[in-house]
Amino acid sequence: MKKGKKLYEGKAKIIYATSDKDLVIQYFKDDATAYNNLKKSSIEGKGVLNNRISEHILTNLSQIGIKNHLVKRLNMREQVIKFVEIIPIEFVVRNVATGSLTKRLGIEDGTVLKEPLIEYCLKDDKLGDPLIAEEHILTFDWASKKELEKVKKMILRINDFMIGMFRGVGIKLIDFKLEFGRLKSSGKNEIILADEISPDTCRLWDSITDKKLDKDRFRKDLGDLIPAYTEVAKRLGILHEQANVSAVNVTKLSSVKRKRK
Ligand code: UDP
Repeated sequence: MKKGKKLYEGKAKIIYATSDKDLVIQYFKDDATAYNNLKKSSIEGKGVLNNRISEHILTNLSQIGIKNHLVKRLNMREQVIKFVEIIPIEFVVRNVATGSLTKRLGIEDGTVLKEPLIEYCLKDDKLGDPLIAEEHILTFDWASKKELEKVKKMILRINDFMIGMFRGVGIKLIDFKLEFGRLKSSGKNEIILADEISPDTCRLWDSITDKKLDKDRFRKDLGDLIPAYTEVAKRLGILHEQANVSAVNVTKLSSVKRKRK
């Protein structure tokens, strides 16, 4: 498959065209941003780990019938995905209160929610991704009632599956963000799961110690982000136990693969 021109560059990923109009290439960068781009850095090896972890989760979701954009991973930093029209909403799913929810509503950090809570944010960096209600989505036609109902059903299944998957490897799934897109090529405007699911987009705490194994290590300057993401990958069985947890090694792994091409 031939990689074409750059179509879009986001904060953590780049999308390239391919020779097939229905497929694009998603490239995972090492860039990390937080607080609506106020905090920025590049963390060597992050993109490689997110590519692998997201591939693993989306492949597993596909096996339980959750349709998603992943076609196949190409190499250490790239995957072929189906071209979709992204719905301009970030769907945030919460099992435990932390982050912006605790600040906004004064809820105690770590409060276990009696039911998963779905929140909607408009994808608009200039506006700081504001929290919106379901009614806004319908009023401004960002998604139809039917699409929203379908997405909510998918979200709850994804959440159930991911809670179990992570629980099995000693990790609590605190919250995460999902994006969905319309598959134009099917002619039916089918809605599928898109974007990525990785420690950049989830909060993952060790089940016993509550150690943070996600992007909060960057947001809160806790350090050791690569060892934390590597730990998630190892526990999910993606990386072998003996894999060294340093950024240098992740990068080496990436360059070995590049040379082989
Ligand atoms: N999240 C994300 N991208 C965003 C905003 C949030 O992936 O642009 C994820 C975040 O990693 C967390 C969940 O959504 O797992 C809830 O985030 P919250 O609103 O608490 O974000 P904060 O403002 O604390 O970063």
